[in-house]
Amino acid sequence: MPDTTPPTPEAAGFPAVAASGARSVPELDTTLTTCRACPRLVAWREETARVKRPAFLDWEYWARPVPGFGPPDAPLALVGLAPAAHGGNRTGRIFTGDASGDALFAALYDVGLASQPTATHRGDGLRLHGVRITMPVHCAPPGNLPTTTERDACRPWLARELALLSPALRAIVVLGGFAWQTLLPVLADAGWQLPRPRPAFGHGAELTLTSPDGHRPLHLIGCYHPSLRNMSTRTLTPAQLREVLLRGAVLARLPAEPPGRDQREAT
Ligand code: SF4
Repeated sequence: MPDTTPPTPEAAGFPAVAASGARSVPELDTTLTTCRACPRLVAWREETARVKRPAFLDWEYWARPVPGFGPPDAPLALVGLAPAAHGGNRTGRIFTGDASGDALFAALYDVGLASQPTATHRGDGLRLHGVRITMPVHCAPPGNLPTTTERDACRPWLARELALLSPALRAIVVLGGFAWQTLLPVLADAGWQLPRPRPAFGHGAELTLTSPDGHRPLHLIGCYHPSLRNMSTRTLTPAQLREVLLRGAVLARLPAEPPGRDQREAT
C-alpha cells in the first residue's frame, strides 16, 4: 500500500503538501513558519539567533521562516529575496529591522502605501495599504545567497501565496534579478501567459502577463533591490525607489501619492 502519511516539516516534500493545503493567506503564513525543509537554512537561522549581533543581545530572535506581510487582498505585491539574518530573522517580519527595510518602508510611506516610515518590530503598528510583501525564500540564507535547491524547495510557498492573492492582484514590483528569475517560471506554471522571449530583469523594466482565462492583465515592474549596498552606492536612490513604487501603485489602481509628500529625502 502506498504511504499516505503527510510529510513532516523536516521533509523535503513538506512545502508542496502543506502549501497546497492552505485555504487562505493567514493559514499559509501560519503553516509556513513550521517549515524545516532546508537543513542548511534551518541551521543558519538558528545559529544566527544563538550567536546574535552585539547590538541585539537582548533580543529573542524569531529564527523561523518569515511569512509575507500585508493584506491578503492586496492589488500590489512586492517580491524580494529572503529575510536578513539580523533583520527579518530577528524580528519575525520581512524587511523589518534592517537597512533594506529602512529604505523600503520609508519609500512606501512617502508614496502613501505604508502607515509609517519605519519598521522596527512586529508590534510597531506598521500597516501597509493595498500592498503585500513576500519573497521566494522564507529563511535567512548565509551571505544572502540561497542555493538553487533551497530556492526550488521554497517555491511551493510562493506559488500558493500568489494563487491566493491572485483574485485581487494587478501588479508586482520585483525587487532584484533573483526574484525576477524565480517569479516568471512560477507565474508561467500557474497559467499566466508571458511574452516570448521572456524579458530580462532590469530596473524599470515592465512586462504585462495575461491571466489563464485571457481576460486579466498582471503587470510586473523590475526594481533594483533596496539593499544596503545598492542604496549606499546609489545604484538605487530613494527617488528611484519611490518612482517605481508609485508606478506599481498606478498599475495596481491604488490611490498613492507622488514623491515629495515627505521632505525627509531630497533625492
Ligand atoms: S527556505 Fe522555505 S522551504 Fe526552506 S526551510 Fe525555509 S520556509 Fe522551508
